[in-house]
Amino acid sequence: MADVLVHVLDHDGQFNKSSLGALSEGARLAGELGGEAHAAVIGGQAPCAALGRYGAARVYRAGGPAGVAQPVVDAMAGLMREGRFACALFGGGLLGHEAGAALAARLGAGIAVEVTATGVRAGRLVAERPVLGDSQISEIELSGPAGIIVARIGAFEALDRGAGDAPVEDLAFEPSAPATRVRMIEHGAQRGGEEADIEAAEVVVAGGRGLGGPEAFALCEELARAFGPAAAVGATRAVVDAGWYPYAAQVGQTGKTVAPKLYIAAGISGQIQHKVGMQGSESILAINTDARAPIFEFTDLGIVGDLHRILPRLAAALRARGDGR
Ligand SMILES: Cc1cc2nc3c(=O)[nH]c(=O)nc-3n(C[C@H](O)[C@H](O)[C@H](O)COP(=O)(O)OP(=O)(O)OC[C@H]3O[C@@H](n4cnc5c(N)ncnc54)[C@H](O)[C@@H]3O)c2cc1C
Repeated sequence: MADVLVHVLDHDGQFNKSSLGALSEGARLAGELGGEAHAAVIGGQAPCAALGRYGAARVYRAGGPAGVAQPVVDAMAGLMREGRFACALFGGGLLGHEAGAALAARLGAGIAVEVTATGVRAGRLVAERPVLGDSQISEIELSGPAGIIVARIGAFEALDRGAGDAPVEDLAFEPSAPATRVRMIEHGAQRGGEEADIEAAEVVVAGGRGLGGPEAFALCEELARAFGPAAAVGATRAVVDAGWYPYAAQVGQTGKTVAPKLYIAAGISGQIQHKVGMQGSESILAINTDARAPIFEFTDLGIVGDLHRILPRLAAALRARGDGR
């Protein structure tokens, strides 16, 4: 009961970054428990042995459609019932939440979701989850034979330890009736998601809750366009969690770290978790209605005012100068 089973998602022949982060965290947690991290890969083409570099001591590989929850639940339930694992860990995202919840129901196990830290205290497995708009941390103790932990997407860093290949075992499992009725038809790219290369952008126009709603991201996109192809749109955790913009654009502790020549923070308060992802920018411009917003403590230039009025004016001024395009 000291091992940790980690689901690793193969997305179009590549292992998903959040899954690799979960595997690294699983290996760390297994070390605390005195056991090993094992990876479960259901479907896909990526070379499974390479997961040894991220801490997997063993990999179970099963056939089936990648990215569909039911086969993951069937395969992992079989492994969990062997009684070797203290918990099953998922990297988050829609699939992680769906498969994690279904696995908990199948096993009658406890579950903690949106987890940002794990550990062992007084011999008990605990998971931390931010609550109340991320202002507090709740600690969840997973008692019982095994627990299910679903990480907050991107919460754990994928650490390539440079270790050797892991042994790979082919796993046979009996698909349940629902698993045979589901197939993946198409992966859709989120708006601004795959193309938003904010890490390489020279200018990042980032939006926060001060935008007031998802439609106002059009103002950030308009300004980024006015800067030209080297500009991209970023976002805070608060707005990606609210579904206003894709996770791929999130800047901060659990998102991406950026260091563009210019970072424009529109309607962003400047909490520490956001700051750590953008403080290395060459110049920072903030637009905020609240002159006492923390972001003004580390900006090069601050505009106290309504972003809905200021962003279109900045875009118009750039277009008039003929910059960018
Ligand atoms: C473990 C953990 C990890 C986290 N990771 C991240 C992360 O990676 N990235 C991240 O961003 N956050 C992260 N957070 C969340 C972070 O603590 C903040 O909650 C979040 O950054 C706040 O987002 P915001 O600035 O968009 O919203 P708010 O804090 O609500 O700020 C909105 C701002 O908009 C201003 N405003 C309102 N209306 C207007 C207007 N019309 N014009 C101009 N300004 C206006 C307001 O004055 C306010 O300052 C994390 C939290 C935890 C606990």
